[in-house]
Order: sequence, then structure tokens, then C-alpha cells
Amino acid sequence: MTVSQRRQKAVNLLSDLELDVLILCNAENVRYLCGFSGSSGVLLVTPDQLVFLTDSRYTTQSNEEVSADCVIEYKIQADGVADQLLSLGVSRIGFESDLAFGVVKGFQAKGDPNWLWLHLKDELHTLRLYKTADEISLLASAADMNVAGLSEIEEMIRPGVRENEIALELEFALRKLGAEEKAFDIIVASGLRGALPHGIASDKLLAEGELVTIDFGCRLAGYHSDETVTLAIGEINNELRKIFDTVLAAHDQALAAVAPGIALIELDRIARDHIKSCGYGDYFGHGLGHGVGMEVHEAPTLSPRSKAVAEEGMVFTIEPGIYVPGVGGVRIEDMVLVTADSQKTLTKIPKMFRNILLN
Ligand code: ZN
Ligand code: ZN
Repeated sequence: MTVSQRRQKAVNLLSDLELDVLILCNAENVRYLCGFSGSSGVLLVTPDQLVFLTDSRYTTQSNEEVSADCVIEYKIQADGVADQLLSLGVSRIGFESDLAFGVVKGFQAKGDPNWLWLHLKDELHTLRLYKTADEISLLASAADMNVAGLSEIEEMIRPGVRENEIALELEFALRKLGAEEKAFDIIVASGLRGALPHGIASDKLLAEGELVTIDFGCRLAGYHSDETVTLAIGEINNELRKIFDTVLAAHDQALAAVAPGIALIELDRIARDHIKSCGYGDYFGHGLGHGVGMEVHEAPTLSPRSKAVAEEGMVFTIEPGIYVPGVGGVRIEDMVLVTADSQKTLTKIPKMFRNILLN
């Protein structure tokens, strides 16, 4: 998708919301619309102008990266933005909900008291909801790095190794493969720690007879991967195996149901019903998945409260889990693209049961 097509999406949003201008500060939205990859910039979008503002620290970078009608350098952000709003002659202004209250107050104090300010939240989610071919190929490449990264460190997943050594080596492998950054703090949760859905790697040693859950991903040219594998370290007991098989079946069933037109709440229900039917309903406490793109967690959300429907171009995760305190846990996660008639799984690490000491 070209910059002008992305810009058109934002312009359509302006007319849908009956606004004159959008003030964007969210780094991902700014990068999406004008290419700036730095952390401090403001983008003003009107039906016929894209105005990028930043301070002198980013002048060189913005000259190299930014595609906009004009680039303005400010000394004080509130002054720079208010001056531009005045010169654009706008009066109905939409701004992002993650803009700090004090920042918005600053813009308002410098502007015209008659301007109307609209606080935007879910409205902006649609901007990056449908991925285009170039975005999908970056997401797929980031997912391919997961395959290579994990295989690079797989031999060290053995009894006696610390969880955080695995996390560190995995991050290092992903960076060496060309990732810009890990997508989030890598989760390595083994044995009883597997019951912590977000168990950041600790200094616990892996032990034979345990499951280990590794939830990881990376960022490539601004786009993320997110994937979870659960591996057995040697022989595991029957209960852990039953938990694994239950999560895998829930994952497979939900994944197979992904297609344009299915309600996201229904995908969540498919996985949740299977887990309930196996007696673990109380141990799946989070939603089934989330969108992935320039942010590792973005719209849409798959949960018992989802309202949206799967549509072509959406990319989201399917990640059921069971977490039983005192026993352990399993999560299995893939990233899936909704295609014109079904789905394509972007993450490629096989998710079947594996005893890492045997194969
Ligand atoms: Zn994950
Ligand atoms: Zn996830």
C-alpha cells in the first residue's frame, strides 16, 4: 500500500467523524502514515495536508524518513502544534486517547477557545486493522525469524538450564538474524511456573518431567511476530499431557474456524467450550487472541466480549491456554491472517506435542 493509500484511509476517517484535522502522536500511527520511526513527533492530518512536527533532535531523521506536505520543527510542542492548527484554519479537532491530558491541555490553551476537541479511541483502531500485502509480508518475515531463532537455541532447552538464559539466547539469536528488537520480554515458564500466564523468564532451572512454555516474537521494520510453543522436557505425567492435548485441540479447532464473516466472539467460544468440556474451564482466564501489526497487541481483540467479525486482511493470534496452580500450564499461539475465503497461518513452528529430549 502506498503512502497515499494510507493517507486516504485517514482522510476517510476525518469525513466519517466530521472532523477537520486529526492530531496523531502514537508512534505507530505516525510511522504508518508518514514513515517517521522516531519517538517524538506529531502528525496533523487534514483532507488535503499532512503536516509533520518534531523537535531539532529529529530533524535529520525526519528529512530522511518523512513523507508529508511539510515538516515543521518546533521548540515548544504546544506552540508548534497550535500555530499549525491556526494556520490550517481548522476548528473540529480529533486527538488520540493515549495523548497525555497535560499535552492536550497545552494545545487547547494555545488555540482558539471555540475549537471543538474530540477524544478518539476505538475510532482510530480501524486505521491499521486491515493489513495490506506489504504489511503481511513483513509480518510473515518476522514470523519466519521465530522459526530460525528457536531452532538456533533449541539444543539448550535441557534440564539444568535457567529460564532466563533461554530468553537471553533467544533474543540474541533473533537480533543476529536481523530483527530490530524482541517484540516483548520473552516468557519462559517451566514446571509449576507454567501456571503463570505471563511468567517472564526467571532464574528457575528447567527440570526433566516438566513442560516449558516459551512465548516470544520480534520486530522487523516496525512489524511484530508473536508465537508460543509449549515443549515437554522428557516424560511428563498424564495430567500435564491431558492439559497439553486439550489446549492443542482448542487451538486447532479455533484456527480451523477462522474465515471471513465469523464473529471473533465465536472463535473465542470454540476454544473456550472445548477447554470447558475437558474440565479446565476455570483455568483459561484470558481472551483467545489479539491483533498483531505495528503494535504487538492491537485491534481486534478475541474474547468473550468481542463485537467484531473476522474480515479479510486482519491478522490476529489464536492463543488458548490452561494454567493450573500447583500443576503447571500450557499455551499454544499462532498468528493468523484472514484471507478472502479462509485463513493463512503466518507463524510456522509446528505446535504438535514434542518431547524435546527425544526429537
Ligand atoms: Zn505471545
Ligand atoms: Zn499474543
